Parts: sequence; C-alpha cells; structure tokens
Amino acid sequence: MFKKLVSSTLLRTSVVLALASASFSVTASDAAEQEAPRNLIMVIGDGMGFPYLSAYRYFKDGRGMTNRADIEYTTFDRYLVGAASTYPADDTLVTDSASSATTLATGYKTYNGSIGLDVDGQPLKSMMEYANERGMLTAALATVQITHATPAAFFAKVENRRQQNEIADQFATQDDDGNWKFDLLVGGGRDYFVRDGDDDNVAVDHLEHFRNNGVQVVESLQGLASAQSLPLVGMLADVNMPYVIDDQPRLKEMTEQSLRLLESADRPFVIMIEASMIDWCGHGNDIGCAMHEMAELEQLLDFLIPYVEERGDTALVVTADHSTGGLTLGADGHYQFRAAEVRRQGRSLRAMATDLQDMPWIDWEEYIETHLPYPLSTEQQEAIANVAEYEGDRHREAINEVLLDILNYHTRAGWTTGGHTGEDVPVIAAGPWAEHFRGTQDHTDIAKQFIEWINR
Ligand SMILES: [Zn+2]
Repeated sequence: MFKKLVSSTLLRTSVVLALASASFSVTASDAAEQEAPRNLIMVIGDGMGFPYLSAYRYFKDGRGMTNRADIEYTTFDRYLVGAASTYPADDTLVTDSASSATTLATGYKTYNGSIGLDVDGQPLKSMMEYANERGMLTAALATVQITHATPAAFFAKVENRRQQNEIADQFATQDDDGNWKFDLLVGGGRDYFVRDGDDDNVAVDHLEHFRNNGVQVVESLQGLASAQSLPLVGMLADVNMPYVIDDQPRLKEMTEQSLRLLESADRPFVIMIEASMIDWCGHGNDIGCAMHEMAELEQLLDFLIPYVEERGDTALVVTADHSTGGLTLGADGHYQFRAAEVRRQGRSLRAMATDLQDMPWIDWEEYIETHLPYPLSTEQQEAIANVAEYEGDRHREAINEVLLDILNYHTRAGWTTGGHTGEDVPVIAAGPWAEHFRGTQDHTDIAKQFIEWINR
C-alpha cells in the first residue's frame, strides 16, 4: 500500500514535470523555428563525462554525508538537457580530443588524431569557415595552448594533432584576400607561435607577424581587459595555463572580455570556449585537480547562462568531447566517495610531485601534511620514505604514484585508465534554443545544428 502511494505520487509529479517541459518546449521551439540565433556559443569541457558532474555536486556540497535529500543541484545539473554519443570513425568506439573536436566543429566523424580531416584525409569544412563566409565573427578560447586538439580542430587541418607547429603556422596564414581564419583567439601556446630555428627549421615569430599585419596581440589578462578591437590574439601562457587548484580561475574573465570585444564589433559571432584541463586532471587520475577545473567551468556557466537568457538572441550548448580516466565514485569494493576529503587536497598531484622532487627529505612531511592532509598509515609513510630515497629518471613519476595511492585511498575516487573512455557525455543548454539539444543525440547532431543555424 505504501509503495503504491509513493509510486502514484511519483507518477503525478512526473506528469506535472512532463507537462511543464512540454509547454516550455512548444514556446521555445516556436521562437527558434522562426529564426536562427544571432550568436552561437559552444562550450567544451574536455574530458567532462557524467561522473565528473556527480563528483562535482558532492564536492561542492562538501559535507561528505547527509541523511536528507538536501544536496543541491549544480548549474550543470539544472541545465542538463541530454546526452551525446561520441564514437569516432574507426573500430575503437573511444575517441580522442582531436577526432571529437573535429566532429563538434564539422558534423563529420573521423579517425583519432585528425585535426579537420576526414578518414580519407580530405579537409572537412568547420563551422568557423561557414561563419566566416557569412560575415560572422569567429573566436576560440582555451586554457591550454590554442594549437591543442580542441581549438585547433575548429580552424586548422593537419593529419595528426601532434603537428602543433604546423597548426600555429595555419593560424598565422591569411587567405588570398588578406583575411585571417579567426577574429579572436585567447589561450596559451606562445612556444608554438614563437620558435627558435635549428638545422631543420627556420625561426618564426608569428606574434610579430600578427602585429605587423593588423592583429592586436596581448600577453596577459590585463592586456585583454584593456584591448579595444579585433582581430586579436591573447597569448596568455608559453604552453598551458596552470591548473586552477594550483593558481586561480581565469576562464570567466577570458570569456567576459572576449564577449565584450565581439559585441563591440557589432556582428554576429560564433565562439568555442574550451575548459581544457578537466581532461588533463583526468589523465592524471587527480580528483581534486579535476574538481577545481569543474568549479571554474561552473563559474563560467553562471556568467554565460544569464548572458544568453537576457540577450535572447544567442544559443548556448555545453558538452564534452569524451570522458577521461574512467572516473567512478567509489572503488575497490568500498561503497563510499569521500567528497569532503577531496576538498582538503591543496595542490595538483603533478605540482606536488614536482615540488617534492627538488625538496630535501626533511621538508617532505610538512609539505605533504599541508597539501594532502590525511592520516597516513604505516604503509603509506613507508612508501613515502622509499620514494624519497629513490634515485633516477622516474623520480617524479614515482613520487606521483605514491601520492596518487594516498589520494585515492582517502577519497575513494576510482579510476580505470590513464586514457579516455567511451561513455556518452552530458549535453547542457540554456537560452531560447536549449530545447534543440534535448534527449539522446550523437555529437555530430550538435555540430550540424550549429552549421544549419549559421547557414540559415
Ligand atoms: Zn585527453
């Protein structure tokens, strides 16, 4: 009897919810059928599979336990509209960032490693190229080098994502009419744009070339904040920016300033914003690192969602290219995810291992107590002592492994791989066109929708 009551209450609730969402979708799609959005914003959380959203909800709550249904939804949860499959055009079913970004940029599947080329090596036309033809402004932001797979796939075409110098060269090349491929690029990657010569290669300074040919180049967030015109390159790091956990968030500021510049140019725009390093933390199986990158992305969405809702003329979709690390909440038979312990982690594992490598043994204890403040077992203390004495090339990696074991033991974060995994990824959307992304889809559908809007 009790069960029956519960289920009929649930049923009523879901009917009400279904009705509410049905009436919403009618209004939203009516508006959207009439006209395409003026501006398009695609946000890619690199490596941000569903487990990252769940983990982040508990991390943000921070208590690590509650006996009430009072853990609040995050912005990711509240604007979640669907899921996307991400398999590449080969027999792996697990994509890399290059292949997935090529798909998200063009609507076509390709092989792992491809930047902008199909399985036969033929160039695919990206939404940025369509947008250029239509006189729209094109922009990309990333927290790693702008020559890295995700931003590169929206503009460049190379056989293999590792050809980052070639990608920088393509960014620095104007077409026959003197037009650039982009109007605004902000991220890291100075080392790829400014290169010393050697026996095989001539020295290049693409930043100088930009400056000499009408592109404004800024090399700090302050420089970006005082910039007044496009085209612009914001070169904010030699390679990637630091992890948020080791430094501070910057993606919202980068985005605010970029949107200010795009708006002042008074033309419709397409922008791709990558929260790049969720993936890197995932490759390192570093849960605290990943959660701080997620916090930065949520901060960005808390700015972008009101932005598109107030404007009423801009579509926003947020997705991931794949999941990374095989993150699970709970591991090794323990029914536990200790979110409160994740919050106590003070630095990324990579930064800690690098610091410890150069630190006298006598200082290790205090350092580890500060940044991984967990009660250590005798075995864990012995492992630390052993690795401190270890000499040789793998020293930093060996330190990293010991720290990772401690972190996973105390947080119960589970990981199955140092690579990517093939589950479907979240699709989050806001603004008048959000309903277009509701439900199950393939990531080709997201790109095709953007391209259809651009060409309408
Ligand atoms: Zn990756």
